[in-house]
Amino acid sequence: MDEARAVVIGGGVAGASIAYHLTELGWPEVVLVERSELTSGSTFHSAGLVGQLRSSVTLTKMMMYSVRLYRQLLEETGVDPSWHEVGSLRLASSKARIEELQRLAGWGQTFGLPLEIVSTEEALELWPLFDPEGVEGAAFLPTDGYLDPSGLTFALVEGARRRGATVRQGARVTGIDVERGRVTAVRLEDGERIRTEVVVDAGGMYANQIGRLAGVEVPVVPFAHQYLLTVPIEGVRPEFPTMRDPDRLVYFRPEAGGGLVMGGYERDPAPWAWEQGPPASFNNTLLPEDWERFEPLAEGAFSLVPAMTSAEVVKLINGPEAFTPDGEFILGESEVAGFFVAAGFCAHGIAGAGGIGKVLAEWIVAGEPELDVWKMDIRRFGRHHESRSYAKARAFEIYSRYYDIHYPNEEREAGRPLKMAPTYGRLAVLGAVFGEKAGWERPNWFTSNEDPAHEHLRPRGWAGENWSTAIPAEHLATRERAGLFDESSFAKIEVSGPDACPFLQRVCANDVDRPVGTVVYTQMLNRRGGIECDVTITRLSEEHFRIVTGTAFGNHDLAWIRRQLRSIEDVRVRDVTPELACLGLWGPAAREILAPLTQADLSNEAFPYMTAQQVVVGHAPCLAARVTYVGELGWELYPSSEFAQVLWDTLVEAGRPHGLVPAGYRAIDSLRVEKGYLAWGADITPEDTPIEAGLGFAVKMDKPAFTGREALERALAEGPRRILRTLRLSDPRAMVLGNEPVFHDGAVVSRVTSGGVGYSVGASIAFAYLPSELAEPGITLQVEVFGERVEAEIAPRALHDPAGRRIRA
Ligand SMILES: Cc1cc2nc3c(=O)[nH]c(=O)nc-3n(C[C@H](O)[C@H](O)[C@H](O)COP(=O)(O)OP(=O)(O)OC[C@H]3O[C@@H](n4cnc5c(N)ncnc54)[C@H](O)[C@@H]3O)c2cc1C
Repeated sequence: MDEARAVVIGGGVAGASIAYHLTELGWPEVVLVERSELTSGSTFHSAGLVGQLRSSVTLTKMMMYSVRLYRQLLEETGVDPSWHEVGSLRLASSKARIEELQRLAGWGQTFGLPLEIVSTEEALELWPLFDPEGVEGAAFLPTDGYLDPSGLTFALVEGARRRGATVRQGARVTGIDVERGRVTAVRLEDGERIRTEVVVDAGGMYANQIGRLAGVEVPVVPFAHQYLLTVPIEGVRPEFPTMRDPDRLVYFRPEAGGGLVMGGYERDPAPWAWEQGPPASFNNTLLPEDWERFEPLAEGAFSLVPAMTSAEVVKLINGPEAFTPDGEFILGESEVAGFFVAAGFCAHGIAGAGGIGKVLAEWIVAGEPELDVWKMDIRRFGRHHESRSYAKARAFEIYSRYYDIHYPNEEREAGRPLKMAPTYGRLAVLGAVFGEKAGWERPNWFTSNEDPAHEHLRPRGWAGENWSTAIPAEHLATRERAGLFDESSFAKIEVSGPDACPFLQRVCANDVDRPVGTVVYTQMLNRRGGIECDVTITRLSEEHFRIVTGTAFGNHDLAWIRRQLRSIEDVRVRDVTPELACLGLWGPAAREILAPLTQADLSNEAFPYMTAQQVVVGHAPCLAARVTYVGELGWELYPSSEFAQVLWDTLVEAGRPHGLVPAGYRAIDSLRVEKGYLAWGADITPEDTPIEAGLGFAVKMDKPAFTGREALERALAEGPRRILRTLRLSDPRAMVLGNEPVFHDGAVVSRVTSGGVGYSVGASIAFAYLPSELAEPGITLQVEVFGERVEAEIAPRALHDPAGRRIRA
């Protein structure tokens, strides 16, 4: 065979599932190449647990799909994956864990997952061998289970084969041809060359070695992962649910013969072959047993299941598995067109395989994924992930804290500080408490603004963790006087050239062909009308535009924009993020602070809202753009980086008599929530259209054709089935964290996308997509916040300054 529609590299569970789903979508000309034998990577030594409830909406949907698929594979393919739908128990040994379970249960309800909180006694009925001492309850999900990972892989391969796929074992890929940024062929060790336009790197822990053949960095880090298998233990039955006790860092599942499989996530994990990747001969191989590292897990298991103490261990399995720097899968098309990646499953590849195969196959066939996969998208990684030591440090932290309770707004510690704005030293001196996003250090708040008088505003429960009285203080100062925000980490992309304007007109939903100096807020849509990018675009000259997007979305947006380019278009796209700083000066005093520092006329007439001008502020030349994400009068100032520090000093000095405060990102978040401004990735995603999101004002249906327009036309004709609404909760200290279920008449009707407390309006606010029949003012709903239902009413989109007078002041 010298040609294929797609070549999938890697005969583990992921590659098998991708081949299965590609053939299901009508691509029979698929070749699956495996350097050794099927399942001989991580798959053969997996423990086979399948749990569905995960940290994101999309991932959970993918796992739920996996279960639906695993139920039917035997009948469909004749190969038995040994699916045991025994359910799962997650024990809670502390009050905080119970709260975590309540949160999970609420979250699960929004998917229709039958997750319920059960008492310790009820859990014991299901799993009578654990010691109830200290256990305060559990969550039970009856549709979880376990299976045989190799059986699953063979069943998927059989399904793919029946629909025409070719499977090549003993076929090592040693080269990938790339021409003009596109894959063209795969080369095998024996000299064979398979021409193809689509290559999928499903190489598990070997994925980076394969990626490098195409010039793509895939930041997987192999870690040794262990579990043990016991001889049969009296009382263990194969229908026991799987069981996890995160406080003891361990998981269990029954073995068919009556033994137990028990593994866990140790605090001091062992990265393996992390610099160069696994050796070329590493197949069907385990690592030596490492009892010393396993001991803390064994102790936890013995204390929970005393019967294990005397049970003979058949084997300690020590197998490597690919982890990632942020604990999320790596999926999607890389910067090399046609080169897709599906790897880094962080010990969840068996549970995920069904969904992974489906999502990736849809992505390949349709050209874009059907679900919002941003958190798993390979484009989320920046250049710093090319550093193996950085990737390892981050993955190590993820692994070692896997079973911790992750409080909202928790910050990572590994590999910091990495990227620092030119003002970093100044911010630190002012008491900045830094958070991290996409490698950037960004002030969350400033200790210098802490004010005990605001302590009564601390949100109840978990939301009150990682919180400071400085947040409301900075929020209120910005509303009443002025706040100065360093936003240098914002991603900035410049688009220029003779075709820049028509190109942007084609990819943006709003009209960007406006006079030089205009700032336009716009979305870029996919063909389904879903929101891929949410940006502002400033026209710097006839043929030169600057796009500003969120810190974490730079790579994603850059890749999306580049992908829309046609070869005949004369357009240059450039990431200028590090070259430009950004300082946001907002608040009613912003004009008074800025005016004496510049010769520019800042009046409404000379410098209206949503326009930009080149100005000099003090000694610092910069572009001033009159835009805001906080809903106040003010400017974003973009100096080139070397002027950032002097500009910061100038503004701080000039602002002092006006009561200006330095302010951080947590204040921004609360300011934007009460102004009804949305966040991409939470409130608006590739699965939501601007019509549903209430962003129709930023869509110009009467301009020449743009991507997504036909889908919007259809949506407008039919009328939206769901609409994003602002909910005002009755208790201002019940703060939502995202993903809480929304109830109407006792039934779950939606889930919260994001929210927070608006300190000027004194309300807890949540955004949620509601079915259109429930999206009318006056309808009362409830939002479940940590197991407690809080009344919520539909409010205007913006609770603060709904008419926008202040931003135009
Ligand atoms: C001890 C342990 C327990 C686990 N328990 C669970 C669990 O309970 N539940 C769960 O969901 N997950 C679990 N996992 C994780 C799960 O096993 C993995 O996520 C999954 O098997 C990864 O599958 P894969 O197809 O991505 O990679 P692999 O199975 O590693 O497949 C990659 C394949 O690529 C091939 N390959 C590499 N280079 C080339 C090349 N150049 N040319 C051709 N072929 C190549 C390799 O030979 C290999 O077969 C566990 C993992 C371990 C280690």
